[in-house]
Amino acid sequence: MEIINIKDWGLNIDISAETPLLISGPCSAETHEQVLETCTEISKMGVQILRGGIWKPRTRPGSFEGLGIIALPWLIEAGKKTGLPVCCEVANAYHVKEALKHGVDILWIGARTTVNPFAVQEIAEALKGKDIPVMVKNPVNPDLELWIGAMERLIQVGINKIAAIHRGFSVYNSPKYRNQPQWEIPIELHRRLPQLEIICDPSHIAGKRALLYEVAQHALDLNFDGLMIEAHISPDTAWSDALQQVTPAGLKELMEQLTTRQTDSSNPDYLKKINQFRELIDELDSQALELIDQRMEIVRKIGNYKKESNIAILQIERWIYVREMCIKKAKKLGISKKFVEEFINTIHNESIQQQTRIMREQDK
Ligand code: PEP
Ligand code: MN
Repeated sequence: MEIINIKDWGLNIDISAETPLLISGPCSAETHEQVLETCTEISKMGVQILRGGIWKPRTRPGSFEGLGIIALPWLIEAGKKTGLPVCCEVANAYHVKEALKHGVDILWIGARTTVNPFAVQEIAEALKGKDIPVMVKNPVNPDLELWIGAMERLIQVGINKIAAIHRGFSVYNSPKYRNQPQWEIPIELHRRLPQLEIICDPSHIAGKRALLYEVAQHALDLNFDGLMIEAHISPDTAWSDALQQVTPAGLKELMEQLTTRQTDSSNPDYLKKINQFRELIDELDSQALELIDQRMEIVRKIGNYKKESNIAILQIERWIYVREMCIKKAKKLGISKKFVEEFINTIHNESIQQQTRIMREQDK
C-alpha cells in the first residue's frame, strides 16, 4: 500500500530527528479555558500536534462522553493561537463531517472503533475524496489483522496520509498497565508495513502518570516515530482519564528525561563493529538451525520406530523430562524461563507434527 509519511502531510511543523514527534493535549475538551490554557502551555514545550477529545467512547454509561460539537471551535482556536495542527477522534460519519467542517487538520480512529469493521467502513466512506491525514489506533484486542484491515479500508477510499497509534491491548485484571503493550504486535506491524509510521500512546498503555516514562522510553528504544501523551492544566480534576494526564510542566519534565535514539548511523567505526557482531549472529543462527534440523532427523527416525512398534506419539513422562531439563539448563545459562518454555514448546509441537505425518503416511 502507498502510504505518505507525516513529514509530507503538509502540516507546516518541524520534524527533526533530534526530538520525537510529540502529539499532546487533553484527553477531553472540557471548557474553553481548559483547552486554550492547556494547549498554549504545552505549545511551549516542543509539542508539534495538538489533540483534544470531542466525542469520548466510554466503557460505562454515565461517564463523561465528551461535549461534542460545542467544543470543536475551542480546539480550532487553540490551533490558530499556537500555530499548530489539531487532531481529534472520530467514531462515525457524523463526527467526520463535523470535524472536517470545523477545520480539524488530522483525525484519529480510536481503539474501540478500529475493532468494528462496520464503523471503520462508515468512516472511510465519509472520507472518500478528502485529503486529510488519519491515524489509526490499534483495536482493543490484540488482533493485528483488524488493525491493518482498518488502514486498508482507508486506503481503498484514497486516504494515504496514514499513521498507526499503538495504545496497548485490554486484558481482564491487567496487572500493571491499563492496557498491555504487547510490543511484539507493533513490531510485527512494522515488519509487515515498513513504510507505515507508528506513534506510541504511553498515556493509554500506562494508565497512570508514574509509568509514562518507562513506556515512552521503551517506545523510543524501539524506534517508534512519535509519542501521543495526554496533558491537562489540572489533571487531577480532569473529567476523563485523570490518573494518566500530566500537567504542562510534567510533560516538559517527562520529555527532558527521555533519551532519543538515532534511527541508524553512518559512522564507519560503528558500522565496522556492528557488522562484525552481525556476522557472528548470522553464523550462530545458521548453526542453531542446523542443530534443529539434526534434531528433527532423529525425531523422524523415532516416528518411524514408534510406528513400527505401534507406540503412541506422545509419551507424557518423556515430554515432562525434556521440558524440565531445558528449563534447568536455561536457568544455569541465565536464559529466561518464559523464553525457554516457548522455545521448547515450539520445537516439541513441530516434532509431534512431523511424527504425526509419518504415522498418517504409513497408515494409508
Ligand atoms: C483517547 O485517546 O482519549 C482514547 C479514547 O483512546 P483509546 O481509543 O486509545 O482508548
Ligand atoms: Mn484518554
